Amino acid sequence: MISDRDLDLRLRESKRARALRLIVRPEGVELVLPRHVGESEARHFLDRHRVWAYQKLEDIRRRSGGLKPSCLPLTGGAFVPFQGVATELIVVEGVRRPLHRRLDGAFEIHLPGGAPEQEAVEIRHALYRWVAVWMRTEVSLLIDRFSPLEGLQPRQIRIKAMKTRWGSLGPKNDMNLNWLLAFTPPEVLAYVVIHEICHIRFRNHSKDYWDLVALHDPAWPERRSWLKQHGSALLARFG
Ligand SMILES: [Zn+2]
Repeated sequence: MISDRDLDLRLRESKRARALRLIVRPEGVELVLPRHVGESEARHFLDRHRVWAYQKLEDIRRRSGGLKPSCLPLTGGAFVPFQGVATELIVVEGVRRPLHRRLDGAFEIHLPGGAPEQEAVEIRHALYRWVAVWMRTEVSLLIDRFSPLEGLQPRQIRIKAMKTRWGSLGPKNDMNLNWLLAFTPPEVLAYVVIHEICHIRFRNHSKDYWDLVALHDPAWPERRSWLKQHGSALLARFG
């Protein structure tokens, strides 16, 4: 059975569309939903065309030089690994509205529609803005939790798009964190915060340094190997 994931399925609700439609691009298959169509009808339609869509997707990807979706810019309907959990990102065609998180957990953004490349850029920016606000709160809570243990307090937190690093600590104890930590499991984000907090005392990776890290998070080697194993894929997709 070909799953939605195999198709890199993306749903687009459209006010203008008259009928259900599948669009196949190298980054995945898009199912266009007119307003009047219900979910079961849409599912039924998709199931009938699943094999066709998959073959066409394979074919297009082969012809586009074997580009994998992970190398392509972020598009709507994709799954965003928010806090390590696949979370749907829904693009609604219409009057522009900022990205928000729905009660069911999915991200939703309203865009007027247009070229997919342009849209991908807009979605990425919107996601970045949302994550920067979310992460600031999240990291403040982590610092409140872990700083008192050894009295190590960063001067300020900066959320940034960094190409190669997860975090760093400036000479005045300003903590820089990669926004992509929003897409790692929560304990990995906590580990990077702890890692930088501990650099306030030791500006190196000595045995004393790692002992201090272990005091806050005894399972730190697991977090580190998670980043080694999955980090580059995240950086390649979103970085
Ligand atoms: Zn370090």
